[in-house]
Order: sequence, then C-alpha cells, then structure tokens
Amino acid sequence: METLLLKGKPVSDSIRLALAPRVQSLKEIGIIPKLAAIIVGDDPASQVYVLNKTRAFEKLNCESQTFRLDVGSSEKEVLTLIDTLNNDSSVYGILVQLPLPNHLDAKTILHAVSSKKDVDGFHPKNLGLLLEGNPNFIPCTPQGILEILKHYDIPVSGRHAVIVGRSNIVGKPMFALLAQKYEMGNATVTICHTGTKDLALHTKQADIIIAAAGSPNMITGDMIKEGVDIIDVGINRVEDNSEKGYTLMGDVNTESVMGIANSVTPVPGGVGPMTITMLLVNTVKSAEKCVELVAGC
Ligand code: NDP
Repeated sequence: METLLLKGKPVSDSIRLALAPRVQSLKEIGIIPKLAAIIVGDDPASQVYVLNKTRAFEKLNCESQTFRLDVGSSEKEVLTLIDTLNNDSSVYGILVQLPLPNHLDAKTILHAVSSKKDVDGFHPKNLGLLLEGNPNFIPCTPQGILEILKHYDIPVSGRHAVIVGRSNIVGKPMFALLAQKYEMGNATVTICHTGTKDLALHTKQADIIIAAAGSPNMITGDMIKEGVDIIDVGINRVEDNSEKGYTLMGDVNTESVMGIANSVTPVPGGVGPMTITMLLVNTVKSAEKCVELVAGC
C-alpha cells in the first residue's frame, strides 16, 4: 500500500487564500483583525512560536502586538494586562503563550481572557460550547486537524478514531469534535492516556489515529492496522549531534508505518502549519462577529 503524506501547507495555503477577501472587506469598513499575544518569561520555543504567529498576521494584512512580561511577573500584573486588552476595542484576539512560569496558575490566567476574544479556544465557556455541539472558538490544533482530514477527503463518520493524549488543548477538544453528530464527526472515539494499560490493543483497532502524547516515535508500524489514517500532532525536540543540536520528531515513527498506513501527516510540515492558520481564522471570525454585533444594535 502506498502511504499518502498529508502535508499541512497546501491546506493552510488554501484557507489563508480564502481569508484574504474577508480581511479586505473588514478593512474597507475600518477594521483590522488584531491579535494581542502575551509572553511571560523568555522561553526560546515560545519566542519562536509567537514570532511565527506575528509574521503570519502581518502577511495577511492583519495586526499582531506582542506583550513581553518579565519571568518574575506576578499573577496580578498578568491579569491587569489581560483586563486592559479585554477592554481594548482594537484587539479582537488575545493569546497567552503557554507554558507559563511555574508560579503562575495557567487556569486562572486563561479564564481571565474574555471568551469573546479567546481565539485559542481555551476558555471554559468555549470548551463547554464545543462539548454541547454549538462551538464558538474551537482550539486551533484540533480545528486544523479536521481541516486536513476534510482537504484530503479522509472519511470520519462511522470510523473508529483513537486519540492518544487527553490534554485540554488537543486530546479533549479533538474528542468533542470527532464524536459530535455532524458531517466531519460521527466517529466512534477512544481516548488513551498514561492510564491506558495496553496502548497497542487500541491503536491496532483504529481507522484513524490522532497521536498527541509528546512522546517521540511512540507509535510504530507493529501497533497499527493496514489502511489506517494517522495524524501525528507531536513535536518533540530530540537532542543529537546535528548542527542545530536537536531534531524535531513526531509521536509516530513515520518510517515504520509507511506501506501499512493509508496516510500520515509528516513532522514537521503536517499539523504544525495548520495551528497558526486556525488562529488567523479565529481572529478574523472574532472581528466579523463584532461587526455583526454593532450592526445588530
Ligand atoms: P500534554 O503533555 O499536555 O498531554 C500529553 C497527553 O498525552 C497526556 O494526556 C498524557 O497522558 C498522554 N501521554 C503521554 N505519554 C503517553 C504514553 N506513553 N501513552 C499514552 N498516553 C501518553 O501535551 P499536549 O497535548 O500539549 O501536546 C502533545 C504533543 O503535541 C506535544 O508533542 C506538543 O508539542 C504537540 N503539539 C503540537 C501542536 C502543533 O501545532 N502541531 C500544538 C500543540 C501541541 P496523562 O494525561 O495521563 O498524563
């Protein structure tokens, strides 16, 4: 069996192309979708992620402003900044880059972001609406995965999807999307985690595997059945003797699944490009919602 590589870039390009006229229409009425990104501390990976997000916003003629807070900033300082941004009518999306330094409670901080500007989709109100089947902002990575499945015509309805990982940003919202009774859902979903006794027992039964554990090369060819479609969410920096000092690896041992799986997303170049694109989608949507609200008044 020839295994298809599900690259994220063509999917991301076509979504960004479709967004451009929507951004132009907003511009014509004086609105520029603007993201405010907050970074606390100087984690190098976070700096790169936020820089990539800023660039993507600029390329699409949107705006992005980064607020860099000192690693020792207090919870009160972060909450004061979020409050200011919640009340700034020029800001349509607020993102708090994770991870936060240990002394800050991520839950308290994420809950403080207005659910109307929560373009990451992490606010409990937005997660609740997603579970209810009435989504507002959907977390970017799971939303991007659905777009990949849609773009490559990978069927979901009636199939058995096995998700490895139950985080609030990938595994749980992915479950809510795939299990929902609608066109791109309607799957039978199993969710695995470190409490799962025999992971391979589950992955061997999967028609779709979503690997989001953060464990390099965890899924191997002997753990899958023929014809499975695999989405590899993992981005793991594995230190080595290369020039960079590390290699990026997924949660799936790609080489070992080639010829057995129907398809697999590469790492890098699979799910990664989709996450920023869905952040753009959510921010443009937020700006459009504001226009609708004003027009409705
Ligand atoms: P978390 O660490 O928050 O969650 C990992 C989940 O995987 C947990 O539920 C954990 O179980 C489970 N898990 C870990 N190891 C195993 C194992 N050996 N067997 C079964 N389950 C396991 O990670 P995230 O969800 O934030 O991220 C997951 C991966 O995806 C990371 O590599 C991250 O870098 C990547 N990522 C990529 C993105 C992209 O844009 N491509 C975006 C977001 C994340 P338990 O709950 O029991 O601890």
